[in-house]
Amino acid sequence: MNNDFSSALKKSGLRKTKHRTAVLGVLDGSARPVAAEDVYLSLKEDGVSINLSTVYRVLDTLASSGLVTRLSIAGEPRSLFEINTMEHRHYLVCVGCNKIECIEGCPLKAYEKTLEKQTRYAIAGHRLDIYGYCPECRDKGRGAK
Ligand SMILES: [Zn+2]
Ligand SMILES: [Zn+2]
Repeated sequence: MNNDFSSALKKSGLRKTKHRTAVLGVLDGSARPVAAEDVYLSLKEDGVSINLSTVYRVLDTLASSGLVTRLSIAGEPRSLFEINTMEHRHYLVCVGCNKIECIEGCPLKAYEKTLEKQTRYAIAGHRLDIYGYCPECRDKGRGAK
């Protein structure tokens, strides 16, 4: 996506700044959720002059405006961030190396409907992350049964 995020920022009532655009660019270009430190390193590589505490502040602002989602995943002590796609996501987490991947689609949509019928709850959402050992970790003999 080639995007200067002007309209997204405007919709969220945020002023467009160089730093906000740059941070959104890193999140948008990443296939998986990233920590503030990763955003910082990637910006530094691109020659953007920014310091880590600014990255934290920008991420905080973007997260509270809803443009960015903050994830806390068990086993990962840092908060991870990704562009809020409005679509909820699920993650596959490697407990060997803490790698995180998005799972395509949601396996729980039909189950929610069944559960609503069974319980008369109006289901508002759910959380689901799946843990295991990734292929690389398995090749190193981890997670063997
Ligand atoms: Zn792994
Ligand atoms: Zn889901």
